[in-house]
Amino acid sequence: MKNIVIVGGGTAGWMSALVMAREWIQQGVSIRVIESPDIGIIGVGEGSTPALKLFFDRLNIAESEWMPACNATYKCGIRFDGWSTHAGFESYFHPFSAALDRQTLPMFMHNAQMRLRGADVYAQPDRFFIAARLAQQCLAPVAPEHFPFDVHYGYHFDSTLLGQFLRKKALALGVIHESAHVVAVQQRENGDIASVQLADERIIAADFFVDCTGFSSLLLQQTLQVPFISYANNLLNNAAVAMPSVIGEKIPSQTLATAMSCGWAWQIPLTNRYGNGYVYSADFCSADQAETELRAHLGLLDADVPVRHLKMKVGRVKQHWAHNCLAVGLAQGFIEPLEATALFLVQQTVAIFAECFARGEFTNRLQAEFNQRMNNHFDGVRDYIVTHYKTSSRRDTDYWCANTANQQDVSPVMLELYRSWYAGKDLAAEINRLQLGNYYPAPSWYSIFTGMGIVPKGEQLRRATAEEACFDIAAVDEFLRRCSLNFNDHRALLMRWQLSG
Ligand SMILES: Cc1cc2nc3c(=O)[nH]c(=O)nc-3n(C[C@H](O)[C@H](O)[C@H](O)COP(=O)(O)OP(=O)(O)OC[C@H]3O[C@@H](n4cnc5c(N)ncnc54)[C@H](O)[C@@H]3O)c2cc1C
Repeated sequence: MKNIVIVGGGTAGWMSALVMAREWIQQGVSIRVIESPDIGIIGVGEGSTPALKLFFDRLNIAESEWMPACNATYKCGIRFDGWSTHAGFESYFHPFSAALDRQTLPMFMHNAQMRLRGADVYAQPDRFFIAARLAQQCLAPVAPEHFPFDVHYGYHFDSTLLGQFLRKKALALGVIHESAHVVAVQQRENGDIASVQLADERIIAADFFVDCTGFSSLLLQQTLQVPFISYANNLLNNAAVAMPSVIGEKIPSQTLATAMSCGWAWQIPLTNRYGNGYVYSADFCSADQAETELRAHLGLLDADVPVRHLKMKVGRVKQHWAHNCLAVGLAQGFIEPLEATALFLVQQTVAIFAECFARGEFTNRLQAEFNQRMNNHFDGVRDYIVTHYKTSSRRDTDYWCANTANQQDVSPVMLELYRSWYAGKDLAAEINRLQLGNYYPAPSWYSIFTGMGIVPKGEQLRRATAEEACFDIAAVDEFLRRCSLNFNDHRALLMRWQLSG
């Protein structure tokens, strides 16, 4: 393999270029990114999982360099507001993990299992995790040197600035950038892609191609005709409207996901603004209705703000790597952004591909294994997102009735997991048995079930025995309160870079 052409200069294109450059450029492989001057990037996607930290760490890019350049903030997790109508369960926090969880997680899991048996014990995630505590107080999840427990965190960032930053870094590593529109793709007799033709009629040949052309998937889906497997039956949302709003003095260290009449709204804090959006199903409300509802939700009914309407194609390709072409990013599939997993899947795709390609001595030998692993990742993430809808008790609109009633497309493994939960089985053991932990770990599943209030309530509860109520929640509060004293105010921590120029 002498040369790789990546078509597409969105986040997926530049992340792929950086990882491939780090792996192969020193071995003499040329990497070229072709980016259309006529088609912009999608320009949304401002939240991440903790995996993004690994991406920057592996490239030796410090937070002090990339975060201020992208107006980035820290993210402790996601708060879900209004997803459940059960009294006392109207809001819950899905935390990212921390080393400190070793102290409190066993208490959470114990209480959750006891609550399932009907014991009247507190079992929501909010009071058991340091990440939840930090988010509640707008603290940054960066553990100071003297505090011996790391907290894992994700980020929020301006996606356009992130793309520009990644491009600069990739160019510095020797990646070639071509601003040109691909108008045609030529194939060899065996179906492999031979070259792409640019609008100025130049033909660019390569040994390997990476399709990062976004939803259009020019190489993998359009040229190689790899089928797309829609998740539309599992996940109803297929459109979004986005608009910014002013951020106040406090900068939250969490994403807010608020249930709306036909979907949900995100609120993502950056250093200079909030990014907001409403992800909805166009089968249940028009773009105008969605925009009006989002404006009302944000108090921006008559405000003059830039608004973007987007369509979403939700699902995945059958094969992410076919012939000599790998699709990455929206070109390979998309799961609605409720848990901000798209860039995580981009990272997984490129990392697993690099491993399989090298292990297969740069042939297609491990293509089937790679595709199976990627399909499992996509389906695993989809199942966790689907669970947010299946566990919601909202029935106030046709959208929520349709969403929560739709059981026929829940995967068999999920039905088994839901049954285990309702039967009060040890869910951690079930997650292990069903091999679900690779995609979302046990605490995430416990958080969603207890957070949504899928536990006995009210009259179904009985007084807990001493053994069932062996953990003192007030002591947990006090422990986490004292731990949180070690952490800095989120805004103050971010501003130190601004102040130091
Ligand atoms: C509403 C919404 C919210 C989202 N929120 C999140 C989130 O919170 N977190 C997260 O991780 N992800 C999120 N995502 C997903 C995220 O935006 C994308 O995964 C990410 O931006 C990568 O996009 P991309 O690079 O695959 O595609 P794009 O950004 O669409 O880039 C496509 C590129 O291909 C180029 N191109 C297309 N056709 C041609 C051609 N013929 N010739 C040359 N170049 C071409 C374009 O010029 C462009 O550079 C969200 C997506 C949506 C729709």
